[in-house]
Amino acid sequence: MKILVLNCGSSSLKYQLVDMSNETALAKGLVERIGIAGSRLVHEKEGADKVIIEQDIKDHTVAVQMAIDALTHAGHGVIADVKEIGAAGHRVVHGGENFAEAALICDEVKAAIKECSSLAPLHNPANLVGIEVCEKLLGVPQVAVFDTAFHQTMPKKTYLYGLPYEMYDKHKVRRYGFHGTSHKYVSDRAADMLGKPISELKLISCHLGNGASVCAIQGGKVLDTSMGLTPLEGLIMGTRTGDMDPAAVTFIMQKEGLDTSGMDDLMNKKSGVAGVSGISSDFRDLEKASAEGNERARLALDMYDYRVAKYIGAYTAAMNGVDAIIFTAGVGENGADTRKGICQYLGYLGVALDDEKNGKRGKELDISAEGAKTRVLVIPTNEELVIARETLQLTK
Ligand code: ADP
Repeated sequence: MKILVLNCGSSSLKYQLVDMSNETALAKGLVERIGIAGSRLVHEKEGADKVIIEQDIKDHTVAVQMAIDALTHAGHGVIADVKEIGAAGHRVVHGGENFAEAALICDEVKAAIKECSSLAPLHNPANLVGIEVCEKLLGVPQVAVFDTAFHQTMPKKTYLYGLPYEMYDKHKVRRYGFHGTSHKYVSDRAADMLGKPISELKLISCHLGNGASVCAIQGGKVLDTSMGLTPLEGLIMGTRTGDMDPAAVTFIMQKEGLDTSGMDDLMNKKSGVAGVSGISSDFRDLEKASAEGNERARLALDMYDYRVAKYIGAYTAAMNGVDAIIFTAGVGENGADTRKGICQYLGYLGVALDDEKNGKRGKELDISAEGAKTRVLVIPTNEELVIARETLQLTK
């Protein structure tokens, strides 16, 4: 069976066609700036050059149709007919407390995704549009895979905030966590690499991409994770603040004369390493600037490493130990300096890096020094594969 995996954003669409006979991605692509001037599709067939199609893409229906056209194209396509697509799997950001697992899409599931829109107003409506467009264009069974699902095993003591309990009862204000699909994938891979059942392991997974989160996984279940009600909590990210005193929010709003959307914008889009450095959210730019002596770039990187190390320390305490620390996503997989910067705080845990192994890229690797007590693993994430697997599971 071939499965189309879709990740629909408010103005973007990422797709991948996965052949489940050997779990390989046949082709993938990205449609950008949907409904905005300068829209385009970038399509990549495995082993071939990228194809870029620039044209007006007025909505998600056009975007999904373009993705299907690219996949069935005589030259850069990978299937002869759209009928070869047996099912579609969608990344859905927020499943609230309704979904601890992936779900086969039906009217009730769509209604439940809609109900969670107030918790993820930018993401869930776009995810739903993607589902409805596929319903029309493909007419195959569809599955929703939730970013929050894996974290539903968190106990109440870790997911509640110290707010009046009614805030949870009335508005479902609690910590949900995100990147669950990625944390689940890399923790399963880590168990394989370590040759032990996941039920016996204490793992800390660091998903460090544009958005970033840390997750404490004990016996295959999430004990705690750094993102909260929204993806703003926790680590300092590319453009997001991460943790801070909530009183700073009202203070800054008063001082700067910001309304709620202005403050939301400041915390989500103008902060993080980009806001501290004043340079960029991209770690390659920051490392270059820092090497050239830019002190704010150095400061942003130091703050980033420190915050990740602090979470690792906290989660080690929470689990009373840790067997392995996992690095994944853009910075986690590629940022050797960041990994080193974080691990320099962790000598007390028996963490020691092998510098040569830490310098390698692109595959699963144990980068710990010989004999180090706590293992440090680099594991490239593959959220699309998890979505495809769960889709197959629920549709076969
Ligand atoms: P997203 O959260 O958008 O999926 P990714 O996981 O792709 O993000 O991570 C993107 C980030 O990865 C970039 O912003 C950049 O900071 C970082 N990155 C990519 N390549 C490198 C590299 N060679 N060294 C350090 N950081 C890198």
